[in-house]
Amino acid sequence: MTDMTDMTDIIDVALLKLRLDGQRFTVGRQYILRALSELVGPVTIPMLLDHQPKLAQSSVYRNLAVLEHAGLVSKIALGDDHAHYELGEALTKHHHHHFVCTSCGRVEDVTLADSVERALDKALQSAADEVSFTLHHHRLDLVGLCSRCTGGATKLRRSVK
Ligand SMILES: [Zn+2]
Ligand SMILES: [Zn+2]
Ligand SMILES: [Zn+2]
Repeated sequence: MTDMTDMTDIIDVALLKLRLDGQRFTVGRQYILRALSELVGPVTIPMLLDHQPKLAQSSVYRNLAVLEHAGLVSKIALGDDHAHYELGEALTKHHHHHFVCTSCGRVEDVTLADSVERALDKALQSAADEVSFTLHHHRLDLVGLCSRCTGGATKLRRSVK
C-alpha cells in the first residue's frame, strides 16, 4: 500500500498534477504528502498535525483542498467533523473502499476481491450507460457501525423501545 509508494514517485506525480491545476508544489504541500505516505490508512487533520509538527494548522485545510482537487489526496467524510485524508489512488495505485462508522467517525480501508470489483464495475457501467454518463471510475463508502460501537448502539436501540 502506501509504504510501497516511493517518495520520489510521489513528488514526480505531484509536480505534474499541481502544474496542471496551476498550483505550486509548496513545502507545506510536500510535508502533507510525505506525512500521508508515512501514516497507515486514512487520518484526520489532528492526526496529521500530530505526526508532522512543521505543518501549520492555518494552511493545512487549504493545502489539503488543493491537493484533493489535483487528485493527489482523497477525502473520506460523512461530515467535516470526521473528515479523513489519505494519498489519492493516482499516487498509491491501490484501488480500495472504506468502512465509515457513523457513530465514532472511524474510517478503515477495505479492499474488495477482484471479482467483486469487476461485478461492481459492470453494474455501475450499465447504470451510467442508461443516462449516457461517461464513467471514469467509482468511489464507494460502506457506511454503518464499527465493531467497537455496535454494543452501545444495540443497547441504545433496545432502551428506546
Ligand atoms: Zn465506531
Ligand atoms: Zn483508504
Ligand atoms: Zn471499487
